[in-house]
Order: sequence, then C-alpha cells, then structure tokens
Amino acid sequence: MKKAIIIGSGAGGAALARDLADKFEVTILETGGAFKPFSYPLTLPEAVKKTGLLFDEREIQLLFPAMRIRKTADKMTLVNGRGIGGTTTLSAGNALRMDGPLKKIGINLDAEFAELYRDIPVSTAHQKRWKQSTKQLYTICEEMGLHPQPTTKMGDYEKCVHCGRCVLGCPQGVKWDSRKFLDNAVSHGAKLITGCRVTQIIIENGRAVGVQAKQGSSTVTYNADLVLVAAGGFGTPAILNNSGFNCENRLFVDPVLCVAAAWPNALQNKEISMPFLVQQEHYILSPYFDYLSYFFNRHWNIPARDIVSMMIKLADTPTGHVEGDKIRKALTDTDKERLQQGVQTCTEILLRLGVDKEKIFLGTINAGHPGGMLPLTINSAATFHPDILPENVYVADASLFPESLGNPPIFTIMAMAKRVGKLVVEKFTG
Ligand SMILES: Cc1cc2nc3c(=O)[nH]c(=O)nc-3n(C[C@H](O)[C@H](O)[C@H](O)COP(=O)(O)OP(=O)(O)OC[C@H]3O[C@@H](n4cnc5c(N)ncnc54)[C@H](O)[C@@H]3O)c2cc1C
Ligand code: SF4
Repeated sequence: MKKAIIIGSGAGGAALARDLADKFEVTILETGGAFKPFSYPLTLPEAVKKTGLLFDEREIQLLFPAMRIRKTADKMTLVNGRGIGGTTTLSAGNALRMDGPLKKIGINLDAEFAELYRDIPVSTAHQKRWKQSTKQLYTICEEMGLHPQPTTKMGDYEKCVHCGRCVLGCPQGVKWDSRKFLDNAVSHGAKLITGCRVTQIIIENGRAVGVQAKQGSSTVTYNADLVLVAAGGFGTPAILNNSGFNCENRLFVDPVLCVAAAWPNALQNKEISMPFLVQQEHYILSPYFDYLSYFFNRHWNIPARDIVSMMIKLADTPTGHVEGDKIRKALTDTDKERLQQGVQTCTEILLRLGVDKEKIFLGTINAGHPGGMLPLTINSAATFHPDILPENVYVADASLFPESLGNPPIFTIMAMAKRVGKLVVEKFTG
C-alpha cells in the first residue's frame, strides 16, 4: 500500500482519514494532544476576572490548551482548535451545507454531502427545550421579517442538557466532532501521532517524499508517497509557505461581534450556542453567549445569567495573510460598514425585547473560521489541485474556499475533503 500522510485532524483531516484508511497506509500527524473539554466551573474565571488578572484572551490557553488564541496587530482575537479533532471540538455544532461559492465555479458536491448526512446525525431537536429568552428573540426576528431558522446541529441533541458550554467542549458527548471519523480511521488501520508539529514538506525532484516535523525537542522525518495538508486556515499556509509554495494573501476569518445588554434571567449562558440563525447578505445573526467577551472584556461586568447577546458573524473581505507564526488581518472599511449594519439590526432586536438602550454594550471582535489562502478556481475545480503544488501534494481544508462563507463551514470543508479523498484514490491507487 502507498503511504499517505495527513497533516491535521480537524474537519478536513479527519474526513480524509476516514475515507482513505483502508486504501492507503495512513498516518495522521497532529500538533496538539487529546482533547479535554474546559472542565472548570465558570466561577473560577469569574473570580479571577474580579481580581483584574484576566485582561488578555490568550490567558485562556492556560486553563484550556485546546483553544489556541492569537492576536493580530489590529488586536483582533483569532481562535482555532489545537488537538485531536482540531477546531471541530470547539464548534457550536452547527451543520450547514454552504457550498454556494463552490457551485459558482462549477463544483457539485451533492454526493459528498449525501454521504455526510448519512453518517452524521443532524437535527433541530434542541428547539424543544429552548429557554424563554431564545423563544422571544426568535419571535422578534420573525416579526422583523428576518426569517430566522432553528439551526441544524450535528449530534444527538435529544440528550442535550442545555448547559451552554458548546464552544468549551461538550461535557455530555452530545455534539458530533471529527474525533468520530478519526476513531473510525484508526479502527481501519490509520496511525494517529499527536504532539507532532509539521514544519515543512520535503521535496525531491519536484515531488513530495515526506514531511519534517518537531516532536518534543526532536526533528523527525516521515516518508510518504502522498502528502495531504489539512492543518486549517492558519496552519496550512504556514506549512506550504515554509516548503516554498506561496499561498495567496486572501485570508478571511469570519469576524464575530456580539451586541449585548442586561436582561435579568436571560440564561443564555445555559442555552445551546447559536440556537437559531438569521441569514443576511453579508453576515449571519444568532443568539450567542460570548465567553471570550465575558471573561476578558471589561464592559461585560454583570452576572452571566443576566446577559442577553446577539452575534454578528461577518463574511469578511479576503485580505489577510499568514507569515510563519504571524497573522496579518485587518477589517476593511466595507467590513466595518457591514458590521455596523449588523449592530443596528441587533440593537433593534434587543430594544424590541425591552432592554434599556443605555445598557447595551459590545463584545470583543473575535474570529474562528480562517481560510481562503489557496482558493479553488474554475481551473482547479475538477482536480482540486492548485497548480503551485507538486502532483502528490493536496490541500483538504478551509484554505480551499474561494471566498468567506460567513457561515458555519465544517460540513462544507468535510465535503471538499471527501472529494479530495476520491480524487487521490483514483489517481494513486488505480
Ligand atoms: C468557537 C468556534 C465555534 C465554531 N462553531 C462552528 C460550528 O458550529 N459549525 C461550523 O461549521 N463551524 C464552526 N466553527 C468553525 C470550524 O470549527 C472550523 O472552521 C473548522 O473546524 C476548520 O476545519 P479545518 O479542517 O480547516 O481546520 P481545523 O479543524 O482547525 O483542523 C486543523 C488541525 O490541524 C492541526 N495543525 C495545525 N498546524 C499543524 C502542524 N503544523 N502540524 C500538525 N498539525 C497541525 C491543528 O491542531 C488542528 O487539529 C467554529 C469555530 C470556533 C473557533
Ligand atoms: S448545550 Fe451543553 S450538552 Fe448541549 S451540546 Fe452544548 S455543551 Fe453539549
């Protein structure tokens, strides 16, 4: 069997591993370790916040190493998952098919989505136990003609206890994440190596022959016939650039901004994250208790149970880039205008709920959907193989998106990764 290395175990990497495990000798290299949900009671960070010692979002990594936080020069907070399951373990569980930008360049992923919907339970079962504040917000959005829709979620939501900790890792195992695909891959012979940070792809005579990685203090080499890079929207461009393949300066991140207010017993901190969605042209809106703002933003200084908050998630202009460990990303004037439109709509929603206008406050801009630095084009739509890469190197993660979705991307990333899987099986095992 040919040797395939998959770099990264998140949405793209795990979907590939599952589909390739019995067709190649698969080794998955993952920089992080086993995922553990944030297990501390929220009273701990709340108490530390009162001392004034919580002032930088990066501190959360001390208590929750699976959540990697970086900051741009513009002080935008960037979030991604590091560890088995990648960022899927931190997700709100939203499962949406969002392949409009791929269809525009001629890519049809119907078959891959059908496989995902067959393998992953998806439902809106959580709606039966919504809190009062969620029901009220939903009705207000309907009355405003915003056409809210209960969010389709991946997992077994009949068992959801609405603890509100989705983005801190589900302690009940309700939410589906990509570890399920990894378990399946490992049971079919794939090897999963953790604590292994790939630094570059080794190229000889124009072909990849393996990868170089840091494992503890050692530099190690893994040989391969095929290298599949799925290290995420920040990790993949860093590896490719370091290997001599320059990605495009088209990074998007889907910035999130919350508009919040005091509302006694809102209990959003005990509600499922993002219970419903409002789709707008350049952003989505959703009820969301924003932990990063709650812990680190000094304006979020009332008890968690009494905060009502609406999130704006923007499809931002693809203008940033990754340079080694540094990420350059700033909002354009257009992005700022669109965010401001979202703020106005969210303010209107909160006012209709009955909050006091003087008690509305904003969250910290944070972003966790990086991608776009190796975008598929009409030319690469059939092969899923950007020209700059050697013929035995593929990318299978959010880096391939032609533009920001401004929407939950996991399902669409996994559908793309599955297509990459089919193409490499055809090309390398035929
Ligand atoms: C708080 C939060 C909530 C979210 N909620 C949702 C949601 O509800 N629904 C949704 O669809 N999306 C959601 N997202 C976004 C989604 O989780 C990510 O966009 C998606 O997981 C990205 O998939 P990926 O395969 O590109 O990368 P990732 O899932 O990030 O996987 C990349 C993996 O590569 C590893 N890696 C990185 N560099 C290296 C290296 N050099 N060597 C080895 N391994 C490396 C990383 O540790 C990671 O495991 C959320 C994101 C955040 C931050
Ligand atoms: S609300 Fe709690 S139990 Fe329900 S999916 Fe989220 S983390 Fe899991």
